[in-house]
Amino acid sequence: MLEVRQLSHSYGDRKVLDDVSFDVAAGRLTGFVGANGAGKTTAMRAILGLIRPDAGEVLVDGRPITPADRTGIGYMPEERGLYPKMRVREQIVYFGELHGVPKQVAARRADDLLERVDLHERANDKVEDLSLGNQQRAQICVALVHEPRILILDEPFSGLDPIAVEAVLEVLRERAAAGAPVLFSSHQLEVVEKLSDELVIISHGRIVAAGGRRELQEQHSRGLYRFGVDDPSALLVEPDVREAKRDADGVVVAIDASDDAAAEARAQQLLRAELDRGPVRGFARELVPLTTIFKEVR
Ligand code: ATP
Repeated sequence: MLEVRQLSHSYGDRKVLDDVSFDVAAGRLTGFVGANGAGKTTAMRAILGLIRPDAGEVLVDGRPITPADRTGIGYMPEERGLYPKMRVREQIVYFGELHGVPKQVAARRADDLLERVDLHERANDKVEDLSLGNQQRAQICVALVHEPRILILDEPFSGLDPIAVEAVLEVLRERAAAGAPVLFSSHQLEVVEKLSDELVIISHGRIVAAGGRRELQEQHSRGLYRFGVDDPSALLVEPDVREAKRDADGVVVAIDASDDAAAEARAQQLLRAELDRGPVRGFARELVPLTTIFKEVR
């Protein structure tokens, strides 16, 4: 478990982190989202020890993070850090060795990682000859070659095609399953929605929401239910029901209720009434997308 506790940091008189606390649980993928300039990279740099925050601390398994912990972090910096003239495989092996991995082991892992992210055919190309997306894949291999116990990735999915996103995700999930806390920032909210188990939302240097991704979505989706009916007019005359969305799969209604249990009970009652009127092809709680939560909390 990685714990960030009450980090504050200013550049000059501009406060960019203000009492920031959040957890990155072992075995979970934690998505770190926030608008441009919200403070994600600064927080990540503070975890890495690349900046010394004005206040606060970082804990690993309940004790202050050590230089050895930091050396062992798999970090993918925002500004990237590959040598353009070096060949891809050579570079991964080199970074592995820098982290103390014996050359032969690093070479084996490099081959495995390159295969996993489907870059093996470019293994002997120079980095500068790769497309940006392929450079990104190489960068991910570099961050993983020493089998890090903690992963901090600044925008690891930017510029990747959907197949590459899946491939990288699978590798990250494996590291998480091996017990590593994984923190990744992203502006691609639909990707974060799909990939993250946990979510941390930062706005103007403050944490504005944090917790289980699904739980957060549920909290922001109280009373939203999808009814797969062709004609929702009878539903919509109810005084506590209003239409939130309508599409080819039916209608999403917002039920005005004081809590989740009351909303659920009312939804079941409405469902029974609809079934009496005719076929209902589908019925489910509807979760708002992350974009909605993001707009609500920022
Ligand atoms: P983005 O999504 O655009 O990458 P971010 O959430 O990662 O943004 P940071 O890079 O942490 O945000 O920046 C937070 C604030 O700190 C911004 O206003 C930025 O301009 C400022 N900042 C970052 N680094 C420095 C620096 N070295 N000197 C002065 N100001 C800085």
